[in-house]
Amino acid sequence: MMIETRAVTKSYGPSPALCGLSLALREGEIVAVTGPSGCGKSTLLHVMSGILRPDDGEVRYRGARIDDLSEARRSLLRRTDFGVLFQFGQLVAELPAVENVALPLLLGGTGRREATAQAADWLERLGVAELARQLPGEMSGGQQQRVALARALVTGPKVLFADEPTGALDSLAGELVMGHLVRAARTQGTSVMLVTHDATVAAYADREIRLRDGVVEGDDGVLDGAFVATGTSR
Ligand code: ADP
Repeated sequence: MMIETRAVTKSYGPSPALCGLSLALREGEIVAVTGPSGCGKSTLLHVMSGILRPDDGEVRYRGARIDDLSEARRSLLRRTDFGVLFQFGQLVAELPAVENVALPLLLGGTGRREATAQAADWLERLGVAELARQLPGEMSGGQQQRVALARALVTGPKVLFADEPTGALDSLAGELVMGHLVRAARTQGTSVMLVTHDATVAAYADREIRLRDGVVEGDDGVLDGAFVATGTSR
């Protein structure tokens, strides 16, 4: 398994958010985590990406526990192995697109020239090369989200965590972002955990896991394994 949780619990004070939740993502698998508001989706994403620590249970990445690592080690893992895409507000407003995308590479020690070249390459792959010198405030929401996707993928993450990635977009822009997200993830074998309550977004996934009250209510497993054989999306 690429990443998994085992009997994870997490409470905020007296109110439980995750109640012994176990799930797993394979390498290259795109999983949609769905369920009603308050069922624990965001908490799960934060626990799996190491932003929050579970109260009990385990999070394993490539077989090794990561929930018991120090804050510094977990934050390093997020820089090197994970990518994160949120709904909005994630780009640095003062920096043009190409510098926003280059940022994670620069933070990881890549030289400026190389980082800029890779950032420009990713903007091109996501169809927004012409926006390289523009500031986020000069772009549409869909364009900003494609730049944010480039930034989440530029380091070649093994796992991409996406929290309502199209939540702030109209349906056409949202479908464009999802098409790019799925294609990019497939070309580099990235596992994707897609938190959404939008059925059209969930339809891009290989598998849907439904949560209810902090546990897994259902796992469709429809394409379980099928995508591995064909390598295609539906
Ligand atoms: P979802 O993403 O599915 O809407 P969340 O993970 O945000 O669900 O929330 C799960 C439960 O935990 C909800 O009952 C919510 O009210 C509660 N919760 C989430 N974040 C906090 C917080 N920072 N403080 C207190 N309660 C929280």
